[in-house]
Amino acid sequence: MIIDAIKDELPKDARISEIVYEGSEIILYTKSKEFFTTCTTLIKRIVNKVKKRIEVRADPSIVEDTEKTLEIIKKVVPTEAGIKDIYFEPEFAKVVIHAEKPGLVIGKSGETLLSIKAKTFWTPEIKRAPVIDSELIKSIRKMLHKDVKYRKKFLHKLGEKIYSEGKEVEWIRLTGLGSFREVGRSCMLLQTPQTKVLLDCGMVTGLSSNKTFPYLDAAEFNIQTLDAVILTHAHLDHSGMIPYLYEYGYRGPMYCTMPTRDVSALLQLDYLQICQRENRKPYYSSKGIEEAIRHSIMLGYGEVTDISPDMRLTLHNAGHILGSASAHIHIGDGLYNLVYTGDIKYETTRMFERAFTDYTRAEAIILESTYGGGDTGKKTSYRDAEEKLVEYIKKAIDRGGRVLIPSFAVGRSQSVITLLAETRLDVPIYLDGMIWDTTAIHTAYPEYMSKHIQNLILHKGKNPFIDERLKGIGSQKERLAVLNDKKPAVIISTSGMLMGGPAIEYLKNMAAEPKNMLVFVGYQAEGTMGRRIQKGWKDIQLDSGHNIQLNMEVQTVGGLGGHSNFQQLLTYLQRYKNKPRKIITNHGDNASTVELARTIHRMFKVESIAPRNLETIRLR
Ligand SMILES: [Zn+2]
Ligand SMILES: [Zn+2]
Repeated sequence: MIIDAIKDELPKDARISEIVYEGSEIILYTKSKEFFTTCTTLIKRIVNKVKKRIEVRADPSIVEDTEKTLEIIKKVVPTEAGIKDIYFEPEFAKVVIHAEKPGLVIGKSGETLLSIKAKTFWTPEIKRAPVIDSELIKSIRKMLHKDVKYRKKFLHKLGEKIYSEGKEVEWIRLTGLGSFREVGRSCMLLQTPQTKVLLDCGMVTGLSSNKTFPYLDAAEFNIQTLDAVILTHAHLDHSGMIPYLYEYGYRGPMYCTMPTRDVSALLQLDYLQICQRENRKPYYSSKGIEEAIRHSIMLGYGEVTDISPDMRLTLHNAGHILGSASAHIHIGDGLYNLVYTGDIKYETTRMFERAFTDYTRAEAIILESTYGGGDTGKKTSYRDAEEKLVEYIKKAIDRGGRVLIPSFAVGRSQSVITLLAETRLDVPIYLDGMIWDTTAIHTAYPEYMSKHIQNLILHKGKNPFIDERLKGIGSQKERLAVLNDKKPAVIISTSGMLMGGPAIEYLKNMAAEPKNMLVFVGYQAEGTMGRRIQKGWKDIQLDSGHNIQLNMEVQTVGGLGGHSNFQQLLTYLQRYKNKPRKIITNHGDNASTVELARTIHRMFKVESIAPRNLETIRLR
């Protein structure tokens, strides 16, 4: 047993009161103040020996009282750090400090933190507070602190499972439950004799379809025996059905990055609201969303963690949206490595570095194929697309017009915002319909963005998200004010394909004026209002029955998307150091997945397949 091995290494006077698991980490609680403050070298030695993450914390009986601790923190941390909240988690002997400038709480080579630790015996944990206030981040963080007792039990039980005896990995199988030969409801089940893991669990969004749900009724799948869920990113086609699992009794962990946890909760809550507005029955209630947050385990990019006795997970940057990741799963001891790319952008954009490819080993890759069918006019580079967009906006503004950019709440909106923040343009930029909230979440996670954006925020003090031209629209009253004010402005609003959302109100208001402009920056699906307008329709009938005559200029800018184009997908594969043995294409329509698999086979001479939903592939 790992715990016995650690015990053997500890000195008699360590006065350890408890050794517990926190997921894959091992925590020692000590009653000795001396051991607590002087054990660093010893623990490093043990970590090297047992190769597991170990942390020492004070037993709750020896920590300083909270009043006094607050006083000490206020004394040692400079006011410029911008401390927003301080939470105590007595069960973990942790004090969680939310600050606008975490670096100043940590201090030079961590000295401020060390001094808090030595003076209070609490273990400080620092989180970045968003510069724009976000009710959502606040309530998620509050919920996690409130539930510490449950979290401690849950994490310990999870650790017991992770550290239980491993079985021989005789076989590895992958079953497609959604997103094979289609886009939407991404979901697959990865199994070994010992472990069952779900990779994403999404829904089909946008258009009405009767197959909106992954095949969770497949014989292969059972909520009760599921060990873990890995979520690559927040878009609902990957995250939308995760609360459903919790609503129906799943109580295991959900692994994702911290921004993915926040943004997916926001999108799931929005899904509930849309269902309510449209009088549809949702697949779950807010309870399911809450349970998912309660069971979430946060991983940073590159952080390796055991998720079962025979699987080890690492998330890496996918370049797609905030917090998006590709999942690398190491199965058995050196036996097999699987990369699930999730949605990837293999091009450095203003906001993100291109997707990670520096894997030591990958026997199989599950590759997204959104543009796997070749490029039809999507060859525009990101930079050219940006130039084009600025050109259009300036043209409309110069003639005294207003610009409407319909956009999804996450991703494209922030791409446009960060672009305009670095563009000379003397007009207000209005953000409507959840875009403000998702933008607020971005301000808490600069570490997850490109070096360029980090440099702006952390070194140049020019946060593109708090540009004074940006104005969030929070109420109908504010919206009316913008509608009635006919002065030049840029309006970024949901929904992205003009299927409902405040964008419709702006469209009604702006459509008649030829000097105004409507610019599409995202994909417009067949059957949507956006697509009809893109095709040149001038007489538009809205769902409300209202007719509008479209005289405003309509433009489309391609290339700003979060997916790799055809060439980028191939270049992405070329960058792998070791040739994989098997490529599985998914997340693309029938033609795209098949065509991409065919091309890869021809170019790389490796087995490439485009399975259908419900097919099972034996990886080993
Ligand atoms: Zn996505
Ligand atoms: Zn997707």
